[in-house]
Amino acid sequence: LQVVPRAREMEAFDSMMEDSLSEDAHSPVPGLVHRYPDRVLMLVTTQCASYCRYCTRSRVVGDPHAAFFNRANYLKQLEYLRNTPQVRDVLLSGGDPLTLSPKILDELLAGLRAIPHIEVIRIGSRVPVFMPQRVTDEFVDTLRKYHPLWMNIHVNHPKEITPELVRACAKLADAGIPLGNQSVLLAGVNDHPETIKKLCHDLVKMRVRPYYLYMCDLVQGSGHFRTTVAAGLEIMEALRGHTSGYAVPTFAVDLPGGGGKVPVQPNYLLSQSHDRLVFRNFEGYISTYTEPANYQRPKMTQWIPKPRIEKGQRGVSGLLAGEEMTIKPAHWET
Ligand SMILES: *Cc1c(COP(=O)(O)O)cnc(C)c1O
Repeated sequence: LQVVPRAREMEAFDSMMEDSLSEDAHSPVPGLVHRYPDRVLMLVTTQCASYCRYCTRSRVVGDPHAAFFNRANYLKQLEYLRNTPQVRDVLLSGGDPLTLSPKILDELLAGLRAIPHIEVIRIGSRVPVFMPQRVTDEFVDTLRKYHPLWMNIHVNHPKEITPELVRACAKLADAGIPLGNQSVLLAGVNDHPETIKKLCHDLVKMRVRPYYLYMCDLVQGSGHFRTTVAAGLEIMEALRGHTSGYAVPTFAVDLPGGGGKVPVQPNYLLSQSHDRLVFRNFEGYISTYTEPANYQRPKMTQWIPKPRIEKGQRGVSGLLAGEEMTIKPAHWET
């Protein structure tokens, strides 16, 4: 269901787009999406181990002529990163970075590690799931040279967890690579609380922490996979409290137009007064939490360096810190 084309892909739907996350518009260099203050998405290949029909990047994935997977462009991407000191986290994706030849991947990782302000490297990959034979001891030895290196795999259904995937994850985890999983909520595939719960339990058993559960993006061809946000909330309701916190991913909608990921969860805070909060738990038990009578905020510390933030990216936390009074839409005044 995830990879075999079906006629229903041809059906158009309201708000359907080719590049629903506006990634191309947020790319200072081809393939480098700089959307958040301190981290970037670096697309390094259009090849993938699996051509998922709901792929958010189906506009380029599988296209051998797309601009961002040659050496000259890697150099441009690295150059941008060297000159952008606020980036401390680089997320390699594509396509699938683990389909690159080990030599090229090694060079790329070395290039990133040579940039002092890059603290963390992350890889998003479906190779352990669809091409587990790629995860050899030798390959893992290449990856572990570049710690701290994290990896997110992409599993949507417990049936994808094969003995081969379990072995691949064990190798990666034994090499000290923290593993996460990103799933997409897909109608007819995994849109049931018991399916997601079983998936999350099986992931935790192989040392993979469920990271995100995404709403399907508004990408052309994926209309028949779409669920409602409500279906996702019902799943989250069945997880939180009912099972280990480790097994509960963050449910997120990646906002169209490049708004980025926004978490959604059932409401647990029912009400609040100046000194008391009223919560409900997963069982429906309602209780209060009393606020402290004289809490003093910490003095704004001189010793914490102010992060370099582009104009407009402090957001609501900037309003709370008193830096601005309002955030206005463009042309709001006129
Ligand atoms: C998802 C994404 C990231 C990483 O987001 P996290 O919430 O830190 O995992 C970074 N850049 C872009 C463009 C993304 O889509």
